[in-house]
Amino acid sequence: LLAVRGLRKSFGANRVLDSIDLTVDRGRVLALIGPSGSGKTTILRCLNGLELADGGTIDVAGELSIDFAQAPPKKRLSALRDRSAMVFQHYNLFPHKTVLENVIEGPVGVQKRPRADAVAEALALLDRVGLGDKRDSYPFELSGGQQQRVGIVRALALKPQLLLFDEPTSALDPELVGDVLRLIKELAREGWTMVIVTHELEFAREVAHEVAFVDGGVIVERGDPKQLLRHPQHERTKQFLHRLL
Ligand code: ATP
Repeated sequence: LLAVRGLRKSFGANRVLDSIDLTVDRGRVLALIGPSGSGKTTILRCLNGLELADGGTIDVAGELSIDFAQAPPKKRLSALRDRSAMVFQHYNLFPHKTVLENVIEGPVGVQKRPRADAVAEALALLDRVGLGDKRDSYPFELSGGQQQRVGIVRALALKPQLLLFDEPTSALDPELVGDVLRLIKELAREGWTMVIVTHELEFAREVAHEVAFVDGGVIVERGDPKQLLRHPQHERTKQFLHRLL
């Protein structure tokens, strides 16, 4: 579904992504792990078109191909944005909108779908994650775990081909992490294609079909989660995992 080749990105003199290659097949889950500042968030932001890569190519579903050697046309970038939806570490809900308004903002405001359909779908999704009764609440009235579940529902409501998660539980109190991880696992079982940046190695092992270790703007190694987390091949991966375990 997704093929990335030679993706590069610098901020001024700071080369954050050196040459990122990755592929994700339809219905598969890729977890990105790695030290702070290694470029994991930047990879997601480039995949979502929130950040413009300096070079390399992104190919989605064999239908949309962007070569960042030249500045891509706006139309292509917005097509790239439409393919994926991002779940952020800090939820990024609109504070002045209700839960329901947050969820339908993309489908109605951006995708121009009929409001009644979007509302019906949003309510079904909110029910599914146990937040049907919060439709008229504002984000500040919800716990972090509830806000993140709204964040996930908001992403699902866009019906993207690809779900991107940027450390979805790292801002949550420990007792609220479980619900969010369970929901993400359910989505994986349903066959959503996902790229997940996470520090939760146990979660990565359970949910991902493949884990990639990112360091210094490159993917140092990737492989089967059990294999990579237990028997890393590269010294840098070993050191990183040793510090965490
Ligand atoms: P963390 O696990 O701490 O979130 P990360 O692996 O996701 O880290 P990134 O957030 O991708 O890392 O950041 C990689 C590097 O890029 C960092 O050195 C960061 O300071 C830099 N960076 C990220 N975004 C910008 C920006 N908009 N402008 C300038 N520098 C940036």
